[in-house]
Amino acid sequence: MTNTYLIADNLTGESVVIDPADEGERIVSEAENHGWRIGSIWLTHAHFDHLAGAAGVADACNPAPPVALHADDYSLWRMQGGAAIFGLQIDPGPEPTIEFQHHQTLFLGNNQFKVLHAPGHSRGHVMFYNEAEKVLFCGDVIFQGSIGRTDLPGGDFNTLINSIQTQVLTLPDDTRLLTGHGPESTIGEEREHNPYIQ
Ligand SMILES: [Zn+2]
Ligand SMILES: [Zn+2]
Repeated sequence: MTNTYLIADNLTGESVVIDPADEGERIVSEAENHGWRIGSIWLTHAHFDHLAGAAGVADACNPAPPVALHADDYSLWRMQGGAAIFGLQIDPGPEPTIEFQHHQTLFLGNNQFKVLHAPGHSRGHVMFYNEAEKVLFCGDVIFQGSIGRTDLPGGDFNTLINSIQTQVLTLPDDTRLLTGHGPESTIGEEREHNPYIQ
């Protein structure tokens, strides 16, 4: 029940997988159907339900795309994303080799994404903001009508609320929120209706 995003630059055919939740082979075949090459895997954070498909993506691609993650979630990644807490065991896939930094700019063809560090759901949670396209890939920071849970290791409610106030609500209201779970929303919608930020 996690949203995986496959985004691409149509000019170069370069694509990126954000949060390969599961079924890595299916993600790769979807990219191949479009003629896209998966250049990297971007993880919003290291919870197992956002990366359990990374191994499958890596196995089905040659060369395997590098995995990018914020350093503050590396320890969570090494714990298989907390899968054991839920009685599960996963293969987390290739070790992250790209370290996200707050305010770093990521390029996908001519598209630019700004990395925004937004801890609270996990310590190293990041979001990807494309200002030109008015899109924020916000992972488990905020959902339609809700926010990320803060009861897992590394979670902290006040830190999450602060991240939402400073990193999400400072963006334009017509920015689309592409969330880690559930339907998409907009910042304006959540500013008006989300009970956690009234
Ligand atoms: Zn999560
Ligand atoms: Zn999640």
